[in-house]
Amino acid sequence: MTGSIVLFGPPGAGKGTQAGRISELTGKPQVSTGDMLRSAVANGTELGHEAKTFMEAGLLVPDSIIIGLISERLRDEDAAKGVLFDGFPRTIPQAEALAEIVSVEAVISIEVPDESIVERIVGRRMDPETGEIYHIEFKPPPKEILARVIQRKDDTEETVRSRLSAYHEQTAPLARWYSDKGLLIRIDGNRSIDDVGNSIASML
Ligand code: AMP
Repeated sequence: MTGSIVLFGPPGAGKGTQAGRISELTGKPQVSTGDMLRSAVANGTELGHEAKTFMEAGLLVPDSIIIGLISERLRDEDAAKGVLFDGFPRTIPQAEALAEIVSVEAVISIEVPDESIVERIVGRRMDPETGEIYHIEFKPPPKEILARVIQRKDDTEETVRSRLSAYHEQTAPLARWYSDKGLLIRIDGNRSIDDVGNSIASML
């Protein structure tokens, strides 16, 4: 594949967890707008400052900010043969802007029912040293790193509900948009990490 791949789905569907494997398999670098925004917030940049309030409230960051961020990232040399988007696009205007700059070859939609999302997100932890994502029950962090794993600030039950509404109102309509273009591949995400990963791998 020479184009880009989009990982699509609600928050907590497993996009970030699966991205590493798909990136290895395809050789395409992972481009996660969520990670880029979190690092802008951590570095105290102007962009981070603008994005922070939206992120903490579980709302989408305005399209203009996201599209600027992505356009800049796609100028990097490693993006020349396509990238793996994780958490982008999240609105139809973002998808329209993307269509003007790169060719999207496949949109992998990881489908997980709302009832499972809250449990998944509230138990989610991250190792700040490696970026590896864990879950206190489904993928427990090894004992030796237990003291350093962190919980994302927006991974609380209350914020998850706002993020889910944002997903249903602004992001979910994109599934139809991509399906009309013949690009959408639906994957049942309500299974083990390995099973989901194998299904995705068999589609690529
Ligand atoms: P994520 O790590 O993908 O769950 O993103 C965390 C938060 O960053 C989201 O809840 C949004 O506030 C913001 N964000 C990430 N990607 C986007 C995007 N493509 N469009 C708008 N906001 C985004």
